[in-house]
Amino acid sequence: MRETLVVGAGIAGLVVARELVLQGHRVRVLEAEANAGGQLLRKSIAGIPLDAGAEAFATRGGTVRAYLERLGIADRVVASLDAPAWLHARTGTTVPLPAVSLLGIPSAPLAEDVVAVVGRTAAWRGMTDALLPGPVGAKSATLGELVRRRMGDGILERLVAPVVEGIHSKHPDELPVSVAPGLVHHLLRENSLARAVARLRTDAPAGSLVAGLDGGMGMLVDTLLAELDRYGVPIEYGVRVAEVHADRVVLAVDPGASPAGADADELEGDVREGLVVVAAPGLVTPADGRSATRTATHLMTLVIEAGTDAARALAENPRGTGVLVARGTDVTARALTHVSAKWAWVREAAAGREVVRLSYESAPSADSARRDAELLLGVSIPEAAVVAAEATTWLRAGRFEAAPGIPITGEQVSGTGLASVIDHAHRLAEIIGPPASEAAADSSTDPAASTERTAS
Ligand SMILES: Cc1cc2nc3c(=O)[nH]c(=O)nc-3n(C[C@H](O)[C@H](O)[C@H](O)COP(=O)(O)OP(=O)(O)OC[C@H]3O[C@@H](n4cnc5c(N)ncnc54)[C@H](O)[C@@H]3O)c2cc1C
Repeated sequence: MRETLVVGAGIAGLVVARELVLQGHRVRVLEAEANAGGQLLRKSIAGIPLDAGAEAFATRGGTVRAYLERLGIADRVVASLDAPAWLHARTGTTVPLPAVSLLGIPSAPLAEDVVAVVGRTAAWRGMTDALLPGPVGAKSATLGELVRRRMGDGILERLVAPVVEGIHSKHPDELPVSVAPGLVHHLLRENSLARAVARLRTDAPAGSLVAGLDGGMGMLVDTLLAELDRYGVPIEYGVRVAEVHADRVVLAVDPGASPAGADADELEGDVREGLVVVAAPGLVTPADGRSATRTATHLMTLVIEAGTDAARALAENPRGTGVLVARGTDVTARALTHVSAKWAWVREAAAGREVVRLSYESAPSADSARRDAELLLGVSIPEAAVVAAEATTWLRAGRFEAAPGIPITGEQVSGTGLASVIDHAHRLAEIIGPPASEAAADSSTDPAASTERTAS
């Protein structure tokens, strides 16, 4: 049987590889780096095992949970601290986010916790949402347009944009309304965006929008790797694919291995043959022919020594799970996660130390991150109290429509986030179906099976 080559061992590649092997494919995974998981990476910082990329999953739709159940690790699902994150507003003040909101969209624009962030005039403008007919804004192309039309610029820019940028690293004007599933549906039913938010939040009470895994999201990678090992799927590390075709891949040439004086253009990489499934960014051209975009996210994780005044103050008065930052303030970080407050398992592993993680659009120094943390958390954190400062940079693929041809999965086509990525990879494996020879054998012995497959 011909091999199926999965390019990329991020979460999309691991899921599609597992599902294909279960369908009878002979799978091999090719991964450019020395480890699997991609943006799901565990790093030990000051001896504390931490997620250096994704640290949670969206619970909406139950997709990830259902998959964790299939993998037998649903009992490791844990809730994060049940307290709203805070917002560092344009005014320079840091306040808790409105208690009942969705991506910053308030369910009660005139509530005191909304007025504290956006001011009274913007809050009153937000109330016009209640007077507008339901269809106003319902066909908006972006989340930004929807909020602007119903609640005005003030609520969009001062409240929704900082929250959305903290979560998706994009302004709401760059995101489709589908980032808030069910929102337009409820807007049309309730004739109000605020009431639609209230409805969605009633269906998903506070603290339940995201969940994590005890021990970190790295557990998911460990589990998938153990499964692939059990099914005899080889993963080749340090193998960078340069070119993909439906039936073969061309590997990148190792510049160190080229003969002296050879012209790089004339060197050809090794070829591997098989059915190709792409789960890595940058290898397939978008349908519109433009080159795919990539954006950098820079993280700085700080560990603060146990027993210091700073650690005590942080443990006693956490600002929820962390702080999101509006644009145009004195802080360059986009968001801060108080990791040891958010996750009980980190608190336990940190043994009295406090862990905070800041994210940036351009690389910060450890000292500027420390100063940002002081401002955002309202606590003095002297240099001497910081026992570790670990920088991590991620290049994330922008989303695009893939041209038909080679099967492709991963966040570049599914959209970012584990819920979308896992769901897409799973569905792609179902669409690919069993290997050609198996399908042929099936149809020769069981015509009903083939009819069913064609019908579906
Ligand atoms: C800092 C950060 C925080 C995040 N937080 C969350 C969160 O809390 N919740 C959430 O749901 N999502 C979160 N995400 C997003 C989530 O991690 C990603 O959407 C998801 O992990 C993407 O998986 P993927 O397999 O599509 O891509 P990747 O993880 O990028 O995997 C692609 C793989 O392909 C490999 N590869 C690349 N090029 C080649 C090549 N040419 N040849 C061979 N292999 C190649 C890469 O090395 C990598 O292993 C976060 C992302 C980041 C960066």
